[in-house]
Amino acid sequence: MQVVEKISRLRIETAFEVLVKARALEAQGRSIIHLEIGEPDFPTPRHIVEAGMRALDEGWTKYGPTPGIPEFRDMIAAHISRTRGIKVAGENVCVVPGGKPIMFFTMIALLEEGDEVIYPDPSFPIYESMIRFLGAKPVPIPLVEKRGFSFDLDVFHKKLSEKTKLIILNSPANPAGSVIPKEDLKAIADMVHDKDVMILSDEIYSRIWYETEPTSITSFDGMVEKTIILDGFSKTYAMTGWRLGFGVMPLWLADAVNILTVNSNSCTASFTQRAGMAALSGPQDGVTAMVTEFAKRRNAIVKGLNEIPGFRCQLPAGAFYAFPNVTGTGIPSKQLADILLNDAGVACLNGAGFGKYGEGYIRFSYANSLPNILEAVERIRKISDRWAKE
Ligand code: PLP
Repeated sequence: MQVVEKISRLRIETAFEVLVKARALEAQGRSIIHLEIGEPDFPTPRHIVEAGMRALDEGWTKYGPTPGIPEFRDMIAAHISRTRGIKVAGENVCVVPGGKPIMFFTMIALLEEGDEVIYPDPSFPIYESMIRFLGAKPVPIPLVEKRGFSFDLDVFHKKLSEKTKLIILNSPANPAGSVIPKEDLKAIADMVHDKDVMILSDEIYSRIWYETEPTSITSFDGMVEKTIILDGFSKTYAMTGWRLGFGVMPLWLADAVNILTVNSNSCTASFTQRAGMAALSGPQDGVTAMVTEFAKRRNAIVKGLNEIPGFRCQLPAGAFYAFPNVTGTGIPSKQLADILLNDAGVACLNGAGFGKYGEGYIRFSYANSLPNILEAVERIRKISDRWAKE
């Protein structure tokens, strides 16, 4: 007996793989600085934890409605309507355990064999994984470093075809930390306005930005009807382990997602949703403090990386990743990431793990303390004479 062929088309996230390797080195007594995992290092704000505990005490420990607690869905709809400048209702909201299930469910609901899916490269590895799993055709669009890791819109336009069923956007982005400029989103909205395509707009980092607030493609005329907004609590409120996310989408698609939910996880944990209500309705100073701290770290890591021979790093506009070009080292990025882990004790990710156009880059997550970040940069600098001499 063996599993079906399509399981072999699924990919994993290298972040989890590198974490295991790093932990194994630590078990041998090595000191490792963790810049591999995409998870805020801050605790979940206290009032959210307390709301979760109170919910457990109050008995929010049973099955709940499949699409989410109605009050919570209304609250999410109001939040999305306000922050994106659009009008959506609670019935457009599907609450799920994390942001990822929205990719999984909506792509199952939309894609058939042979459908084409446009998506950024490099990007979150699960996009391509799901496209291949469903027998659809991946159409990666390279992100251009010179354009702040945005698309070349001419390439985008050329790749748009009659077979394009879905376009995936991610802004602010993993792994490059880029924010798609408003005028680019407008150009994309114009390109697809009259086409029968859907957009999966992954906005999981929507609250983590520095100089310019990201725009959602839904704010352009006619786009709400064509878009699934993916967002959640993992990054914004440092709630990765709570598993709480949501999608906002047209009703016909929400119905399909809810059916898939009944057939898989039934519903999202009720007490987690109560904590989510406290997150949205309570004080937001925890988010502000976290982003202020990320900004300091971003400046420090980018400055430090740019002083390392062979590294060239742009200032990311959002999320908490630095994505230096390391081609100047002359070492393939996979090999370099291994060297940095094994010899410098700095866990980081090979850019090619995010798509073929990520080759030549390394992703550093700066969700770690400033002293650790400075120490990581120093450790890399110390071994850099290896490639600097060549
Ligand atoms: N989308 C992107 C771009 C991400 O980087 C991540 C997590 O790393 C997710 C979605 C998934 O978030 P969650 O942990 O809520 O499933």
